[in-house]
Amino acid sequence: MCGIFGITDSKEAPGLAYVGLFTLQHRGQESAGMVTDDGTQLRQHNGMGLVNEVFTGKVLESLKGRSAIGHIRYSTTGSSHLKNAQPLVLNSCLGTVAVAHNGNITNADRLKASLQKSGAIFQSTSDTEVILHLAARYRGRNLEDTLARNLPKLAGSYAFLFMAPGKVIGARDPHGYRPLVLGRLGKSYILASETCAIDVAGGKTVREIEPGEMVIISGGKVSFRRFAPARKFTRCIFEQVYFARPDAVVAGRSVQKARYEIGALLARELAGVKADLVSGVPDSGTVYALGFSEEAWIPYQTAFMRNHYTGRSFIQPDQRLREVTAHLKLAPIKDVIKGKTIILIDDSLVRGTTSREIVKSLRAAGAKKIIMAIASPPIISPCYFGIDTPNREELIANKMSVERIRRFIGADALHYLSLESLVTACGGGKDANFCVSCFTGRYNR
Ligand code: AMP
Repeated sequence: MCGIFGITDSKEAPGLAYVGLFTLQHRGQESAGMVTDDGTQLRQHNGMGLVNEVFTGKVLESLKGRSAIGHIRYSTTGSSHLKNAQPLVLNSCLGTVAVAHNGNITNADRLKASLQKSGAIFQSTSDTEVILHLAARYRGRNLEDTLARNLPKLAGSYAFLFMAPGKVIGARDPHGYRPLVLGRLGKSYILASETCAIDVAGGKTVREIEPGEMVIISGGKVSFRRFAPARKFTRCIFEQVYFARPDAVVAGRSVQKARYEIGALLARELAGVKADLVSGVPDSGTVYALGFSEEAWIPYQTAFMRNHYTGRSFIQPDQRLREVTAHLKLAPIKDVIKGKTIILIDDSLVRGTTSREIVKSLRAAGAKKIIMAIASPPIISPCYFGIDTPNREELIANKMSVERIRRFIGADALHYLSLESLVTACGGGKDANFCVSCFTGRYNR
């Protein structure tokens, strides 16, 4: 789970890349980075923290160029350290090449070991660097040939942005697990993880990059090239469940609409349940709760205030401070909660920690009865394709029955959305081609 954004052929490229990355901030808050190209030379700035912390005015001024690619990181593979911040830049016989990656290369360790045996020296511990070393070792006539030759060696998931002087290349893995869309802004092309970043930068979405497809932007022109046979999309359904912003369009459907419908289907699955109000765990739970409310004719109320300014780096509290800061991010609105039967919706339950805390907080605020509704099915299997869902042993639904989970989180009732409803709402119907392996334990080959 990371965000990538690239823009070509604009004198405002660094500023627009900033806007794009800022819009994608919800996809990762650990580090941010940008590489710009003035046609002959690449300039790079990466830093730990949020986009507005990393790119101060002075830094942006120093990043000169008419094209830019950027990345925001949420670590899945490789430790949380500046050397793993992206884009990565490597100087080799290929010249200077930068890369930004969203996804997880599942055979990176094996590829890395064999490259190291023949002398490659890696700068980072991230899986991303492997593609640059492969490219330096097994070259073609130009960068696109080189990539077309080497990308098929990678297993797992990727949406990549590459940059070399005068060129930006995007590539999407042969299953299309991770998102990548092409946009247009005047003479500029944009590549981004979500359509909302293209919108906010002032552009228009052209289309998604297809599974196994490369897009090459050079000299103001765009061209497409296949490096793997055409296959159906197997998009990660967690984009709709949690990652993507509601104003993004995924698989031709607005995420807001999909979540609203998920909320309505959740209400149908819970038909007959009586409650005084329905609410969502902010921010992702809110749209689900609105859809639920309309379908069930139960009023929507805001039960929690979310503080958007906590950032990532507030003090790691000791036990006493932890109690004080428990409500720092999500504070219950007591007047709304006291004496009420509440249906509370969250997008997912991973380890169960969040729901447990939230139920505790609702009880302390005087809730009469708490019905927890989860807008996705139980997560029983880890993700190998770039989502930070932990080891199998840490997944609560892998260890406990729904009834035991209910007792663990302390709710009066617990309901998970069915997979069928989730897939229907995301626009898949019977021909669904989403990756749902975290819910089923069945993985694509
Ligand atoms: P947990 O507290 O471990 O049960 O995690 C569930 C909560 O984390 C929910 O409130 C989700 O909104 C959120 N969540 C779900 N998936 C992720 C993810 N991959 N990274 C960070 N947060 C997540």
